[in-house]
Amino acid sequence: MAIATSSSAPLVDALGRRISYLRISVTDRCDLRCRYCMSERMQFLPKDQVLSLEEIALLADLFIARGITKIRLTGGEPLVRRDIGELVRRIGRHLGNGLDELTLTTNATRLDVYAQDLFDAGVRRVNVSLDSLDPARFADVTRGGDIGRVFAGLNAARAAGLAVKINMVALKGINDDEILPMLRWCDSQGFDLSLIETMPLGDTGEDRTDHYLPLTQVVDDIAAVHPLTPIAHRTGGPSRYHAVEGMRVRLGLITPLTRNFCADCNRIRMTCEGKIFMCLGHEDHVDFKAALREGGLDAVQPLVDRALRLKPAAHDFRIGANAPAATRRHMSVTGG
Ligand code: SAM
Ligand code: SF4
Repeated sequence: MAIATSSSAPLVDALGRRISYLRISVTDRCDLRCRYCMSERMQFLPKDQVLSLEEIALLADLFIARGITKIRLTGGEPLVRRDIGELVRRIGRHLGNGLDELTLTTNATRLDVYAQDLFDAGVRRVNVSLDSLDPARFADVTRGGDIGRVFAGLNAARAAGLAVKINMVALKGINDDEILPMLRWCDSQGFDLSLIETMPLGDTGEDRTDHYLPLTQVVDDIAAVHPLTPIAHRTGGPSRYHAVEGMRVRLGLITPLTRNFCADCNRIRMTCEGKIFMCLGHEDHVDFKAALREGGLDAVQPLVDRALRLKPAAHDFRIGANAPAATRRHMSVTGG
């Protein structure tokens, strides 16, 4: 199928925000069940509802032709999707030719298998989710994960030459006592660290309110021990970075609840079913799959512009007693 070029207008939404960053959830499936992300018994999509790797690659071609310069593959767990290496290679061919960066967010349980392939396909950085360094606590948060697999993945990433940023969801009463140790560990490993506030997305079978930890409070605690200085470093996403006195680790803060970052949002997300969500926190979306299957990329082009018009000014996340989840969708569906 040839790439449609009927429109080459750059992606700018109704509020003038330039959209340059696409996150693709390549599967809603995962080998872990993190408590803040999924319920224990998840109902995953039947495979025939999921885009083929070729369809994902074609849509990536289209978005790159429309001015997307950064793509992150995510999920669910991207490395459980069969033949994921092929997709990475296929999209990686655009690097230096429209695409500036291709990255991946992973739980790293299979990163030891894929690290070298990712590097060879042009990936230079990965985000690895790790909420605890303690094997028993890690197993508890992920409902059964083996931290040994994550360490094997991290070692392989380092050996392959991939830069690593650790993503840690800050959870009151679960890992708040590990934030400083995690910062020091990341520093010792040559990794960066981003802390994330838990977002009210989908039903997990547990109450997030109990474990919500505002990062405003965490930052004060860290700064009392290791002074922090805001720095201009950006990686294209919502993380705002700080230098940590006496350390080389950069500390990123992702604060959807305490410091809204929607005004300069440059992101859109595609689910593994081909639905384009313009915001993590809203249900509005445009479905590309039927158009693609019935009319090819020419039928999808006008939908890109329809999607742009849907981008809301901001999410409406609230956490607290009686506050419902912002969406029924889990983060694993939209892609974190
Ligand atoms: N499975 C991969 C992983 O865990 O890195 C990629 C997908 S996961 C949905 C992407 C990121 O979203 C992870 O860093 C995870 O910690 C984060 N996440 C998932 N659910 C979240 C929630 N409700 N609030 C905040 N972050 C969440
Ligand atoms: Fe899986 Fe990632 Fe969600 Fe954890 S955060 S359950 S690893 S998709």
